[in-house]
Amino acid sequence: MKRTKVAELLQGNALGQDVLIKGWVRTKRGNKFVNFIAVNDGSTIHTVQVVADVQQFNEESLKDITTGACVAVTGMLVESQGKGQSVEIQAKTIEVLGLADVETYPLQKKGHSLEFLREIAHLRPRTNTFGAVFRIRHAMSYAVHKYFNDKGFYYVQTPIITGSDAEGAGQMFRVTTLDVANPPKTETGAVDFSQDFFGKTTNLTVSGQLEGEVAAMALGEIYTFGPTFRAENSNTTRHLAEFWMIEPEMAFYDLNDNMDLAEEFLKYLVMYALNNCKDDLQFLNDMYDKELLTRLNFVVTNSFERLEYTQAVEILKSAKQKFEFPVEWGTDLQSEHERYLVEKHFKKPVILTNYPKHIKAFYMKQNEDGKTVRAMDVLFPGIGEIIGGSQREENYEKLAARIKEMGIHEEELWWYLELRKFGTAPHAGFGLGFERLILFITGMGNIRDVIPFPRFPKSAEF
Ligand code: ATP
Ligand code: MG
Ligand code: MG
Ligand code: MG
Repeated sequence: MKRTKVAELLQGNALGQDVLIKGWVRTKRGNKFVNFIAVNDGSTIHTVQVVADVQQFNEESLKDITTGACVAVTGMLVESQGKGQSVEIQAKTIEVLGLADVETYPLQKKGHSLEFLREIAHLRPRTNTFGAVFRIRHAMSYAVHKYFNDKGFYYVQTPIITGSDAEGAGQMFRVTTLDVANPPKTETGAVDFSQDFFGKTTNLTVSGQLEGEVAAMALGEIYTFGPTFRAENSNTTRHLAEFWMIEPEMAFYDLNDNMDLAEEFLKYLVMYALNNCKDDLQFLNDMYDKELLTRLNFVVTNSFERLEYTQAVEILKSAKQKFEFPVEWGTDLQSEHERYLVEKHFKKPVILTNYPKHIKAFYMKQNEDGKTVRAMDVLFPGIGEIIGGSQREENYEKLAARIKEMGIHEEELWWYLELRKFGTAPHAGFGLGFERLILFITGMGNIRDVIPFPRFPKSAEF
């Protein structure tokens, strides 16, 4: 017999038929006449109830069916008299595929804190919470590809090992082929890191943007979706050392087109989750955050507020709230400022534009005022910055001068500059942090809980 997944089973189409399920026991309870075993197989937040009659299954034969054990059950699918479920399985055979010792299996019936579960990243997908989060994460990956494919964007894979530092922030992990026990030395005796990668300096990518621009300047509209790495020794609930980014890059887009795309894209993703992850979202809403569904519905039905950085600074300076870091024109906004604008002032998502150029990366298009660049950050409730983007500087001289001015190694970016030398075009793009999106959609409070294997300072060893 072929296995039926619990999600499909619960639709009830196989009523009256014999079925086979395989999954992990969540609970077993019983009385003199009958035992009820709840089994989950990861296909849904729900369990299916297996009814084991004591006539057929005596206590001894059920002793290995404990929380966490893996089982294969055959039996007839029948209507259920129990509350909260429409169907159940009248067990005919129960095979234990894998034992889970009651004394040592950590995920017993009682609820566990998210902190505790973080310590056991290898087992936490078996909980309702992480099952829901990872199913939603899957659905969102699919929705990203679907959105762009339907719009005619091409998916481009950019390198993980690169020589360029897209953000110029120096938060790179080095990649090295050096013999660390016996490294090459410079004349001063220091380790010669310029020899890192068979004679070149290399690092793990902090963003696929620059290579994405290469593709956009030939294919028109493209996106990347891959892992990025930042060696930030940060312990916030919004930063990881390894995270996934979605970076669309579009020829012939200006900043307004870029904002329109970002807003449409985010709304599409939230809508997709509302339509396709109903049970998981309902569970997270009821379990952790009673406002979750309201917030998601709000985002898809209201337009985002758009304003300039300069106006935002005025608002923040006249705010009654005391900030840990006071704001002046020219300061980079912290998440406390971003969240004030979104949650307290406008009470909706905000897109901030035209930031001071000295707090933004070298590649952003400079405005006429000589002080600001055509940057945009999208700010979300509970998150702060979810997207960072800009119109790119397409003028060769201006870009070259900016690179020089910022002291960036020109020789590493010759290919990037050549995009402006030969057939340059106005273009724009942005980066959406995938885990920040999942944070928003699931309502989870910590970014470490929305990626299967979080990487952060002192993270688990596997
Ligand atoms: P922040 O100000 O929050 O540190 P950033 O401005 O450094 O973010 P960008 O370089 O603009 O980030 O990257 C684009 C997007 O990638 C951000 O808007 C955010 O969604 C996401 N992101 C950036 N850094 C991280 C990180 N360390 N962990 C997870 N997501 C991140
Ligand atoms: Mg940062
Ligand atoms: Mg930022
Ligand atoms: Mg940013």
